[in-house]
Amino acid sequence: MNTLSNKERMQIQRQEMPEQDPAVRKDNFNEVTLGYTEEMARIEAMRCLNCATQNCIKGCPVNIKIPIFIEKLIDGDYIAASKTIKEDNVLPRICSRVCPQEVQCESACVLAKRGEAVAIGRLARFVTEYETSHTNGTEKQQTYQSNGKKIAIVGSGPAGLSCAGDLIRYGYEVTVFEALHEFGGVLTYGIPEFRLPKAIVKDEVENLKKMGVDFQNNVVIGMSETIDELMASGYAAVFIAVGAGLPYFLNIPGENLIGIYSANEFLTRVNLMKAYRDDYDTSVFDFKGKVTAVFGGGNTALDSARTALRLGSKAVYIIYRRSEAEIPARKEEIHHAQQEGIQFLFLNSPLEFLADGKMWLNGVRLQKMELGEPDSSGRRRPLPIEGSEYVLDIDYAIVAIGNGSNPIIQQTTPNLSFNKWGNIVADPETMQTNLEGVYAGGDIVSGGATVIRAMGAGRQAAQAMHKYLLSK
Ligand SMILES: Cc1cc2nc3c(=O)[nH]c(=O)nc-3n(C[C@H](O)[C@H](O)[C@H](O)COP(=O)(O)OP(=O)(O)OC[C@H]3O[C@@H](n4cnc5c(N)ncnc54)[C@H](O)[C@@H]3O)c2cc1C
Repeated sequence: MNTLSNKERMQIQRQEMPEQDPAVRKDNFNEVTLGYTEEMARIEAMRCLNCATQNCIKGCPVNIKIPIFIEKLIDGDYIAASKTIKEDNVLPRICSRVCPQEVQCESACVLAKRGEAVAIGRLARFVTEYETSHTNGTEKQQTYQSNGKKIAIVGSGPAGLSCAGDLIRYGYEVTVFEALHEFGGVLTYGIPEFRLPKAIVKDEVENLKKMGVDFQNNVVIGMSETIDELMASGYAAVFIAVGAGLPYFLNIPGENLIGIYSANEFLTRVNLMKAYRDDYDTSVFDFKGKVTAVFGGGNTALDSARTALRLGSKAVYIIYRRSEAEIPARKEEIHHAQQEGIQFLFLNSPLEFLADGKMWLNGVRLQKMELGEPDSSGRRRPLPIEGSEYVLDIDYAIVAIGNGSNPIIQQTTPNLSFNKWGNIVADPETMQTNLEGVYAGGDIVSGGATVIRAMGAGRQAAQAMHKYLLSK
C-alpha cells in the first residue's frame, strides 16, 4: 500500500531509465534502454496518485488495469503485478518497450498535466521482466479445453498474436498462418534489435504455442489458399491481420538507382537476414564509412537511420520536409537518435537522385521548404522556397515515407470490401467485414498505426468472433 500523502507523492521526481552510453551503443545492436532497477521501480511507483477516475486505463487501447498493477508493485508482489498486466495484454514485454505511452496511458495520467506522468511503460517493463527472470520460463503455461471449433488467423503480427491469445482462452483451436519464415510481423522484421530484442518476440510466440496455438510459417494466404478456401475447409471463422507492408516511394527521378532501398526491404534484410551479425553473409551493401540519407520522419525512418549508423555509416541524415514540431516519430527515439549523432535536415525535400555514371547513387538534389497553412491532416503544409535547391553527396538512400496494404488478399477475395486505399472495411467495434465469419484488424484495416492499436483490434475481433460462434 502506498502510505505517502498526495503531496509527498508529487514531490518525487520521475525516475530516468538507465541506457547504454550513446558513444558505445552507436556501434552495437544491443538494447539501448536497460530497464529500471528494483529500487527505481519502487520509487517511481510511489508517484502514482491512484486517482478515483483512473483515466490511464482508458488511455490504454487494451485497458490494462494500471493502478492495480502499480499497487501490487508497491506491495512488492512483482509477479502478481505482471499477471495483472497479462490479463489484458498478451505481449506486455513488447508493449512496455515500443508503445508510444506518452500519447496513450501516460498522456492521460493526472501528473502529466503538472509535469511528468508516472512512467507506466517502464514500470510494466520492470514487473514483466521480473516475472520472466524469476519464473525462469519454467512456470507451467495454462492450457485450455478445446470446444472443437477451428479459427484461422492470417498474419502473425501483434493483431494476429493478440487475437490468437484471446481465442485460445475461449477454447477455440487456433491456427496462425504466416507468409514469412519467422513469426511476429513488424515486431520481428521491422523494429530493430536495439529497440526490441528478437528473443523477447520469440518468447512471446513460444508462450502462445505452449497455450496451444498452432503456428504455420511460409504460408501466403491468397497464394497457398484463399480466404474463401479457408472458410470452406472447416474453419468456423477467419481473422485477417496481414498488416500494411507495401512500401510507398517518393516518385522522383533517379529512384531506381543502385543504393536506394525502401525502409521495408532494408530493415527486413538486416533483421531477418541478420545483416548486423559478423557471422552471417552480407545481406545489404557495405555501409562502413558511407554517407546515408533517410527520407521520412516516422519510427520507421528513425529505425532505418540508427540501423545504418550501427552498420558503420560515417554520417546519417534524416531528411524531413516539415519541421521538428510535426515529426511523427516518438520523442524518445528522436532524442536517442540525436544523442547518437544522426543529423536531422528539417524542412528539406528531395527533388532528384543523382548517379555516378554507372547507375550508382552518389547524391540527392534537395530543396528547402517553409511551412504554410495547415492541410487536411491539420499539420502546416510544407511549401518550397524558390532558389533554395542544393546537392547533398550521399552513398545510400533509404525511403521511409509510409506503407500501403499488400494487394494479395484483395486480388484473391473478390467479395471482400476494401476502401479506396486498399484497406479492408471492418466494423470499428466488432472488426467484422462484409463477409460472414470473416473479421479483420490491425494495420490492414486502420493503415499504419501502432502495436497496441493492432493488439486492441485483435482483442475486439476475438470477442466478437466468440459471440458470433456462440450464437450459431
Ligand atoms: C520499422 C517500424 C517501426 C515501428 N515502430 C513502432 C513503435 O515503436 N511502436 C509502435 O507502437 N508501433 C510501431 N510501428 C508500427 C507497428 O509495428 C504496426 O502498427 C503493427 O505491427 C501492426 O500490426 P499488424 O499485426 O496489423 O501487422 P504486421 O505487424 O505488419 O504483421 C502482419 C503479418 O502478416 C503477414 N502477412 C502479410 N500478408 C500475408 C498473407 N497473405 N498470408 C499470411 N501472412 C501474411 C506479414 O508477413 C506479417 O508478419 C512500427 C512499424 C515499423 C514498420
